Amino acid sequence: MIFDLDHTLWDYDRNCAEALYELYEKNDLKKRGIQSFEELLTVFMELNTQMWDQYDLGIIQRDIIRYQRFHRILLALGVDDYQLSLSMSSDYVSLSPTKKNLLPNAKTVLDYLAGNYRMLIITNGFEDIQHTKLSSSGISNYFDKVITSETAGHKKPAKEIFDYALSVGNFKTEEVIMIGDNLNTDIKGALNASIDSVYFNPSRKGHSAAIQYEISDLIELKTIL
Ligand SMILES: [Mg+2]
Repeated sequence: MIFDLDHTLWDYDRNCAEALYELYEKNDLKKRGIQSFEELLTVFMELNTQMWDQYDLGIIQRDIIRYQRFHRILLALGVDDYQLSLSMSSDYVSLSPTKKNLLPNAKTVLDYLAGNYRMLIITNGFEDIQHTKLSSSGISNYFDKVITSETAGHKKPAKEIFDYALSVGNFKTEEVIMIGDNLNTDIKGALNASIDSVYFNPSRKGHSAAIQYEISDLIELKTIL
């Protein structure tokens, strides 16, 4: 059984929001003209998603996210201050992975599955950061291995990262199922690697992808498996 981490188990949106709120207060961004924390959050979510999609596609590298993300966000909010953006970026990457919120029922389902299945994580996130998220949220013990694109040398949806995970975990293609929230990386990747998949779609976004299973709450995994 293979899980994605961000937005599938680890509540990325909520954890981001908590970290950003602290940064908003700490840097007194109201004084810099950003009227509310919600403004910062909205722009962050939009630009961050765009940049991660570009990262998944191999268009940009990790350093661009690290050194440009907050600069672009601040500029979009009318604040031109590269030094501030660097210090926010550094604070954000150390603070956000320490946040503990998981998606609803994540813990319940992991407890249930742990008795019956071996589990792995495959993530396009960064090695150091993803390990911090797993331990902060108290779920590292559930997983035999955490495969990041950095260790595998390939990103989802490349078949290679799934092959690597299967060999590291000593799994057979036909006995594995991938659970993830991203059609372009998790679900397409599972298809590329000829393994079954469950699309986790909590907001019930419309789509036209051909998928095997779709759930909006992790608890539904109990009935599929
Ligand atoms: Mg995800």
